[in-house]
Amino acid sequence: AGGAVWSGGQPDLDGSGADPTTPTTDSRVGAEPGTDAGEIMMYYQPQIAIATGEVVGVEALLRWRHPRRGMVDPEELIRVAEQSAVMRLLTRRVVDDVVEQLAKWSAAGLGLRAALNVSVRDLHTCDIADQIADRLARYGVAPERLQLEITEGALMADPRRVLTTITRLHRIGVGIALDDFGTGYSSLQHLRRLPLAEVKVDRSFVLGMAEDSDDAAIVRSTIELAKALGLRVVAEGVEDERTWRMLHAAGCDAAQGWFYARPMPAEELVAWLARYRPLRPLGGHDEAE
Ligand code: C2E
Ligand code: MG
Ligand code: MG
Ligand code: MG
Repeated sequence: AGGAVWSGGQPDLDGSGADPTTPTTDSRVGAEPGTDAGEIMMYYQPQIAIATGEVVGVEALLRWRHPRRGMVDPEELIRVAEQSAVMRLLTRRVVDDVVEQLAKWSAAGLGLRAALNVSVRDLHTCDIADQIADRLARYGVAPERLQLEITEGALMADPRRVLTTITRLHRIGVGIALDDFGTGYSSLQHLRRLPLAEVKVDRSFVLGMAEDSDDAAIVRSTIELAKALGLRVVAEGVEDERTWRMLHAAGCDAAQGWFYARPMPAEELVAWLARYRPLRPLGGHDEAE
C-alpha cells in the first residue's frame, strides 16, 4: 500500500494553496511533516458474471483520505481537479497504479481484468493513449487486461479528438466501456460511432429497478440494445438479490454492487477473492416484473 500514495502534488480542495503542479521529491506526500495532504489510493470493486457468479474483473475507483475531512467524494475531487493541471497528474497516477497492480496480480496468478475511469479532459489529448501503451509495455501487462470507462459527458466537448484518442486505445487492444449509459447526451450516436466493447448501465436506473417499473424498463431496453449491437453490458449499483435476478432474466452479462462487494483496497480484494464463493445458481424460474 506504500506505493498507493499520490506523489503528484496536493489537490487544493481545502484551499491550502499548495501548488498542485509541483511534484514533491518525497513520494509520500502525507509523510512530510507539516503538509499532511492525506492519501490518494485506488479501491477496487469486483465485477461478477451474473449467470455464473464468476469474478470477471474489477473497477478501479479513486479514493482520497483527507486528514481532517476523511474520505472525500471522488466526484467532488474529480470536479475540482478538472479545473486545473491536477487532473492530468491524477489520471497519470491512476494509470500507473492500476497497471502496476495488474502486473502484481498477474505475478500472483490472478488473471484479473481492471477497468479505470478517465475524465473529460484526459481524452482531449493523445497523451493518455501514449501513456497507457508505455505503462503496459513497461509492466508487461497485456492490453486486454485493461479497460477504460468513459462517460458520455466526456465525449461531448470535442467529439473528434476524443474519437481519435479512443480509436488509438482500441487499436492497442484496450477495451472501451461507455459508462453511466443513459445519463448523458447523444448516447445512441456514441453507440454507433465509437469502437466500444461494453456499455455500463448507470446506477441511478439500476438502484430503483426493483421498485420502479420505469427504471426496470429502461434497464431492460438498454441491455437489449447493447446485446443487439454485440456489446457486453454491465450493471452497476446492484444492492439486492431481487435486482440481481431481474438483471439475470434480462440477459445482463455482468454486475457490480454492494450485493456482491463494496470497493476495497487491493490487499483486501485478495482476501475477498480467497473467501469468495459464487452465489447459488439461479433456479429455473425467471423473475417477471
Ligand atoms: P462510476 O465510474 O460510475 O463508478 C461507479 C460508482 O458506483 C462508484 O462510486 C461506486 O462506488 C458506486 N457503487 C458501486 N456499487 C454500488 C452500489 O451497490 N450502490 C451504490 N449506491 N453505489 C455503488 P464512487 O467510487 O463514489 O465514484 C463516483 C464516480 O467518480 C465514478 O462513477 C467516476 O465517474 C468517478 N471516479 C472514480 N474514480 C475515478 C478515477 O480514478 N478517475 C476519474 N476520472 N473518475 C473517477
Ligand atoms: Mg466507472
Ligand atoms: Mg458508472
Ligand atoms: Mg458516475
